[in-house]
Amino acid sequence: MASSNVSSHTGQMPVSLQGLSPRVQDLHKRIKQFIKEHVLPLEVLRVQRLSQPGINRWEIMPEMEEVKARAKAEGLWNLFLPLESDPEVKYGAGLTNLEYAFLCEEMGKTLLAPEVFNCSAPDTGNMETILRYGTEEQKQKWLRPLLDGEIRSCFAMTEPKVASSDATNIESSIRREGNHYIINGHKWWTSGALDPRCKICIFMGKTDSGAAKHKQQSMILVPMDTPGITIVRPLTVFGYDDAPEGHGEVIFENVRVPVSNILLGEGRGFEIAQGRLGPGRIHHCMRLIGYAERALELMIDRTMNRVAFGKPLAAQGSIQQDVARSRIEIEQCRLLVLKAAHMMDLYGNKVAAPEIAMIKIAAPNMALKVIDRAIQAHGGGGLSMDFPLAPMFSAARTLRLADGPDEVHLRVVARIQYYLARQAKL
Ligand SMILES: Cc1cc2nc3c(=O)[nH]c(=O)nc-3n(C[C@H](O)[C@H](O)[C@H](O)COP(=O)(O)OP(=O)(O)OC[C@H]3O[C@@H](n4cnc5c(N)ncnc54)[C@H](O)[C@@H]3O)c2cc1C
Repeated sequence: MASSNVSSHTGQMPVSLQGLSPRVQDLHKRIKQFIKEHVLPLEVLRVQRLSQPGINRWEIMPEMEEVKARAKAEGLWNLFLPLESDPEVKYGAGLTNLEYAFLCEEMGKTLLAPEVFNCSAPDTGNMETILRYGTEEQKQKWLRPLLDGEIRSCFAMTEPKVASSDATNIESSIRREGNHYIINGHKWWTSGALDPRCKICIFMGKTDSGAAKHKQQSMILVPMDTPGITIVRPLTVFGYDDAPEGHGEVIFENVRVPVSNILLGEGRGFEIAQGRLGPGRIHHCMRLIGYAERALELMIDRTMNRVAFGKPLAAQGSIQQDVARSRIEIEQCRLLVLKAAHMMDLYGNKVAAPEIAMIKIAAPNMALKVIDRAIQAHGGGGLSMDFPLAPMFSAARTLRLADGPDEVHLRVVARIQYYLARQAKL
C-alpha cells in the first residue's frame, strides 16, 4: 500500500503519529501490518466467495472467524472502548478517543477490518450502551459475550411509518404486564439483524406516550430468539445486501421479555440514545478518513500506471488537481475528527456534541468526493467489484443518513451558533 499520510513524504513516521505514546504507536504499526497481511486478502476472498453461484450469502465465512481469532490473540481487540467510560480498564484497552482515532482510521481502509478487530458498528455502540447504562447482570449476560466476539447485536430504532430522524416520532410500544414487558413495533434498517451470530437487540419504543416528549421512550434488551420477532426482508443499499450482517425490516409482535431487561429505567430511552450515538458517530468519521485515504492511494497507484493519449494519467493536470484537492480535504477532516475526539476526552460527549455534529456532516461528504474522484480515475473498473471503491462509496453515502441525516446535524450546529451569539449579548 502507498504511504497513507502526506507527512510521510519525509520518509519519517507521519508527524501526526509522533505525539502518540509508544504503546499506541506500536498498536498502530501492528494494525496496519495485520490489515495488509490478513484483512486485505480476506477482502478479495469475500468478493470471490459472494460471486460464486449457489453460495449462501448469509453464512459466516470461516476465514473471517479465523482472522478474528488471530486478531484477538494478538491483543488487537476491543480497542474502541474509551477510557472515560471504562476508567478501570475492565473491558477495553484503556485508550482515549484521540488515541483510538488513529487506529480506527487504519481500520477504515477496508470495510472488513472493523469486525476483525471487534470494533464494528452497531456492536460498538451497543457494547458502550450496556457498559454505561446496563446492570451488572445485563453486563454479564450480554456485554461479556459481545466483547469476547462470541455473539453480535443490532439496534432497532428507525421505523418505516414515521420520520425517524426525529426520534420522538417512534411509535413502537413497550407495555408492562406484571413481571414482563410486551413489545410491539415495526422497524427497518436494523443493521446486523440477519447475521446468524446476532443474539441481542437494543430496541427503542414508548413506555408512556402520555409523558413529557423526551420521557416517553425507553430502551430494552430483546434476545433475538424471543418468539414474536419476524425478519420480513433484508433491505439493500444501491443493491448491496451487505450480507451476512444485512439491514433488516423486522416486525416485533407481542414479544415478551422480563422487566429486568429494561436499560436504565422507563422513560430514559432518549437520554441513552444521546449517549449512545455520540461515540458511534465519531467512530464512523474516523473510519471515513480511512476510506478516503484508501481511495486516494488507489487513485494514485492507478493513474501512475495507466497511459492515455501518450502519457500516464498522473501527468494530466485535472487528475493532479483531483489528487491535490483530495489530500487537502482529507487533512482538513482529520483535524476536525481529532479535535472532536480530544474534546470528548477532555469535556465529555455532551460538551463535544457540536464538534461531533460538524464532523458527522463533513466526513461522509468529504469521503464521497474523494472516492468519486478515485472511481472516475479508474474508469469503468472503478464501479466494478474488482476494486473496493463502489462498496466504499455506498457505505459513505449511507453515513449521510445513518446516525442522523446531515440536516439534523446542521440544525444542531446552527442552534449552538445562535445560542452563543445570544450569550455574548447578555
Ligand atoms: C444502511 C443503513 C443502516 C442503518 N442502520 C440503522 C440501525 O442499525 N438502526 C436504526 O435504528 N436505524 C438505522 N438506519 C436508519 C437511519 O438512522 C435513518 O434512515 C435516519 O435516521 C433517517 O431517518 P428516516 O429514514 O426515517 O428519514 P426521515 O426522518 O423520514 O427524514 C428524511 C429526510 O428528511 C430530511 N430532514 C429530516 N429532518 C430535517 C430537518 N430538521 N431539516 C431539514 N431536513 C430534514 C433529511 O434529508 C432526511 O434524510 C440505517 C440507515 C441506513 C441507510
